[in-house]
Amino acid sequence: MKKVLKNVSFVILVLKMCIVFGQEPTAQKRILIDVGHGGKDAGAIGINGIQEKEVVLDIANAILNLNNQLDKPLDIYLTRYKDTLISLSDRTKLAKTLKADLFVSLHCNHSDNPNARGIEVYALRKQERYSKESVFAGYKIERALCKTIGYESRGMKFANFQVLRETTEYCPAILMELGFLSNVDEAQYLMRKENVLAIALSILKKL
Ligand SMILES: [Zn+2]
Repeated sequence: MKKVLKNVSFVILVLKMCIVFGQEPTAQKRILIDVGHGGKDAGAIGINGIQEKEVVLDIANAILNLNNQLDKPLDIYLTRYKDTLISLSDRTKLAKTLKADLFVSLHCNHSDNPNARGIEVYALRKQERYSKESVFAGYKIERALCKTIGYESRGMKFANFQVLRETTEYCPAILMELGFLSNVDEAQYLMRKENVLAIALSILKKL
């Protein structure tokens, strides 16, 4: 059965209120959001020409902007703020330098099968430290996105990605594939500003 992504603009206000009223008065966590690809590395190219490097930067910037509107914003950093290419090892070194509490790498998926759709979240396979914390962090965000956005869940998965391997020494780390740019519905969905905002808000709420 084909799932339809939700039109979420009306949900945004409700979510915002949840963030404002649902916050606990504890020390604010430091989050490093890794904005995938950049510069000459465009990442996946969508069926509609949309580029992965731009989609993830838009989502990350939306998370930053929304966070700045909170009474008690989280301490959020991005690995890139512009269309620049950062090496994978520099991205992970930043997690160490900042003493981040959580590393979240943002990506979009691509498949030769145009019907492939949905969201995937990865944690490191065979993780010595922060294994439970990583899986829990990924699961929470994935659930929220499926519920709010209507993404089909492809589940929490395990892989040996470099950004996860090098970061999990310092903090919990996850990599998210936020929909398939090779799928018409999801690529079109990600083109719209209000949808980017809704995705950003769902993620921020669970950081
Ligand atoms: Zn990617």
